[in-house]
Amino acid sequence: MTEEIQNKKSEHPTDEQQRVVIVGGGLAGLSAATALLGRGFKVDLIESRRQCGGRAASFEDSEDGSLVDACQHVAMGCCTNFLDLCEQTGLGHYLRRDRTLWFIGPDGSRSACTPAGWVPAPLHLVPLLFGMNHFSLLEKAALSWGMVRLAVRQKLGEGDSELTAAQWLRSRQPERVIQLFWQPVIESALGESIDFVGITAVRKVVVDGFLAHPKAADLLVPTEPLGEIFGEKLVAWLRGQGAAVHSGQAATGIQYDESGKATGVLCGQDVLWADAVVLAVPWRAAKRLVPKLLPPVDESFVGSPITAVHLWFDQKIFDLPHAVLVGRVSQWVFQGEEDESARNEKACHAQPKDVEHHCQVVISASRGICDGNRDKLLETVVNELQEIFPAARGARLIRSRIVTDPTAVLSVRPGIDRVRPNQKTPVENLFLAGDWTQTGWPSTMEGAVRSGRLAASQLLELAHMKNDCVVKDLHKNAFIRLLVGQ
Ligand SMILES: Cc1cc2nc3c(=O)[nH]c(=O)nc-3n(C[C@H](O)[C@H](O)[C@H](O)COP(=O)(O)OP(=O)(O)OC[C@H]3O[C@@H](n4cnc5c(N)ncnc54)[C@H](O)[C@@H]3O)c2cc1C
Repeated sequence: MTEEIQNKKSEHPTDEQQRVVIVGGGLAGLSAATALLGRGFKVDLIESRRQCGGRAASFEDSEDGSLVDACQHVAMGCCTNFLDLCEQTGLGHYLRRDRTLWFIGPDGSRSACTPAGWVPAPLHLVPLLFGMNHFSLLEKAALSWGMVRLAVRQKLGEGDSELTAAQWLRSRQPERVIQLFWQPVIESALGESIDFVGITAVRKVVVDGFLAHPKAADLLVPTEPLGEIFGEKLVAWLRGQGAAVHSGQAATGIQYDESGKATGVLCGQDVLWADAVVLAVPWRAAKRLVPKLLPPVDESFVGSPITAVHLWFDQKIFDLPHAVLVGRVSQWVFQGEEDESARNEKACHAQPKDVEHHCQVVISASRGICDGNRDKLLETVVNELQEIFPAARGARLIRSRIVTDPTAVLSVRPGIDRVRPNQKTPVENLFLAGDWTQTGWPSTMEGAVRSGRLAASQLLELAHMKNDCVVKDLHKNAFIRLLVGQ
């Protein structure tokens, strides 16, 4: 359902309430809207697609009409703002918390790696790091030392921040540890190859995602389709709080007055008058809408691809909630959530007919994978699953679908943080948001939510209001603070 844009160019609203127009209904725009509601603003959100959610989206399965995520998204325990947004809007229970990370080594060995919950950080990581069966004791020790070295701020000197992860790691870590830990972990956390990603971004993952807190590395897995959680439920929450959400409407320009202040957002012939604008669109769209306000994004901003291989088998092929497959083309495999009808059928003790079991293999930094040959990719992934999971050998693959987003995330290369723009722009009442803006975080759901909250904070500051939108990181104990230099 969408709400018509009411105001034609001639109809400037006369109401007293400050009106904020948010362009872009991805997590950045949705979080900005959530932060501003209840603070006396009238919020309008414009989204060009039929459904909000942006890249955290689902498609309708052509076979049974159910929603399937274009690509599995996960968050980590350290994603405090994303989690806070979900809690605030009543969506927290749609996230399953997996404390155990399941690794499957190149030899097929399974490792259940669970951080300890009862010892102070960083000791909580000992069972996780030393639980990886595919490493020797020496390799485990090297990996742990590598983490500490990376975390110690003084060791990461000025010059180091210009290095890629591969450049930093190759002179400091055994090749096998790079291949079987750093590469899969970095590529899945940052969505980019270790050959391109900057070591500073990796340090953030190590410190915030592993060392900082016993809950930092918890995996948060959505239990319902993203399209339902963000596209429907979050939008319903916003509407319930008084926001107007105009989906299927693309912003075509920003309108300014003679002093250079933004006065509205153009959608073709219509204008939505605004006292302030939050532009929460991807960088290419932002460049079209506000070219003068952005740094040279074309040269510095590169997207990194992520591929999801969706597989529907005639039986369940593995018994884990997820698994990290190291040393293979497939990087992660996730068990599909059983849909409502299947659950109901079971509840009625009916014999489910033609039940399909969905699972999804995710491959980050997937450029050039299997030479771009989709049949070869499908064959490779299925072969790998059959090697690892005995049940897959006897299962029939009913159907499959490969979804690649060529610019899934911003490639966080060395020096990128110098050009990521702040949410505040030279136009006093126009703010930027989006996972590509300056958040200190990689391009993730947490980064997007933070950017929306940072934009909202700047807007509140302009309005001389309390700007406490961004919640704190997980608490770091004194030892960790000393270690990382905070
Ligand atoms: C395949 C894939 C896998 C990923 N996996 C993970 C993961 O596991 N964990 C994680 O944390 N992150 C993951 N991400 C990243 C995460 O999805 C993004 O970081 C986040 O969703 C970005 O949100 P955003 O609001 O900044 O941008 P977007 O989601 O891109 O939202 C921008 C919105 O603006 C709209 N728009 C554009 N132009 C206009 C216009 N002119 N007018 C109106 N609206 C407009 C777009 O339609 C879009 O809805 C993944 C991304 C992809 C693609």
